[in-house]
Amino acid sequence: MHEAPGTPPPACPFHPAQGTVVACHRCGVLTCVACLSLSGARGWCRSCEEHSRRGPASRRAVASGVLGSVGLCCAFAPGLLGLALGYAELRSIERGDSPRAGREWAKAGVVLGWMNVLMAVAVGLVSGWMGLSRS
Ligand SMILES: [Zn+2]
Ligand SMILES: [Zn+2]
Repeated sequence: MHEAPGTPPPACPFHPAQGTVVACHRCGVLTCVACLSLSGARGWCRSCEEHSRRGPASRRAVASGVLGSVGLCCAFAPGLLGLALGYAELRSIERGDSPRAGREWAKAGVVLGWMNVLMAVAVGLVSGWMGLSRS
């Protein structure tokens, strides 16, 4: 696209007088400071912010939390899967691709997943120690 010199930058749809200053970190739309919402170090436009606030937790977020607890109760493998899903979901929430409502689920999945790992290590150590003391 060719822009003539002196053309004002495209204006913010909500504040046409402001003049745009920054591009949304997620979708690249130019937005003014008033509309920019900061998520960590990234600036998001209004629609991305709304997209991220609205909506229920994603399926992956819920699955992560559920797998973590299932793994803790009866099996080790689902916990590992929950751990991986939890990390993936947290990254996705950070990028704005998943609703923030899933953050607690994903965190639970990560925490429970690590507890799975610790328990597996502990069980391994104890059974190894018992095997040693028996001989
Ligand atoms: Zn604005
Ligand atoms: Zn955006």
